[in-house]
Amino acid sequence: MISGKTCVVGIIANPIGHVRTPQVFNALMSSRQIDAVMLPMHVSATALELFMGGAKEIRNLAGLVVTIPHKEAILAYCSKLTSSAERVRAVNVVRFDRTSSEVVGTNTDGEGFVAGLKAQGFQIQGQSAYIAGAGGAAKAIADALVDEGASALGIYNRTESRASELVARLRAEHPGIDIHLAGDAPQGYALAINATSLGLQDSDPLPFRLDHLSPTATVAEVVMNTDVTPLLCVAQKHGNPIHFGRYMLDGQVERIARFLGLLT
Ligand code: NDP
Repeated sequence: MISGKTCVVGIIANPIGHVRTPQVFNALMSSRQIDAVMLPMHVSATALELFMGGAKEIRNLAGLVVTIPHKEAILAYCSKLTSSAERVRAVNVVRFDRTSSEVVGTNTDGEGFVAGLKAQGFQIQGQSAYIAGAGGAAKAIADALVDEGASALGIYNRTESRASELVARLRAEHPGIDIHLAGDAPQGYALAINATSLGLQDSDPLPFRLDHLSPTATVAEVVMNTDVTPLLCVAQKHGNPIHFGRYMLDGQVERIARFLGLLT
């Protein structure tokens, strides 16, 4: 039951209709009997400045989950960043600290992806992974995989310069790990991840080819508008194990609640 004492959390995006976080977050709040609710807020890129000016003044707004297209633009409104947000230069959760007036940004995407993998029994330590994408989600996942002990990482992206930038940063930070640019036909990896937005639309091409992939390689998604995306459907036909995009959200919802001070 929402009352005058209920703590409010927003999720901002444009478009907003596809987001799944409110369902998962509100189910968690309800199961733990926490008096908090997440509400969808449809905010365009041009309205972000006006929105953030107002949001800071809403005293029962604990924070915001931030998604496309605001994850980088929101950096300008954060007075403090956690190390995960600093590394990726993208924020997916903002907390309004009412006593210090700080606006603190973090990024839970990478940790959420790894937690989702572990929950499904996949151990990344000592294993090689391929990532298609070099945007916010891909960068966060790449950081989390190397932090978790991946032995090698291949990065492929439509805009190659973004993949090269990511490879260069990761190599500088992790000189002992094999981090390289990859093509669109991964081969020899234990895990192949779609971290692009391809798959959101029915008309999208597949993010990478599966014809050289070992049949034991796990094919994983970040896209979660449906469980079996076109990529996972093809992977299933090839006999590969598949990993849904929603596991990444399941893996981070408690982290989001803890960051917002709603869970201990
Ligand atoms: P960004 O906009 O930061 O990055 C998008 C990525 O997709 C870039 O690598 C981009 O390549 C690539 N891309 C987009 N369109 C195409 C195309 N037509 N052909 C080839 N590549 C393309 O988005 P995010 O990284 O924030 O989000 C990516 C996806 O991850 C979204 O679907 C989002 O919903 C999902 N996501 C899921 C989460 C979960 O919990 N499951 C959490 C966070 C995100 P280029 O650089 O060439 O433009």
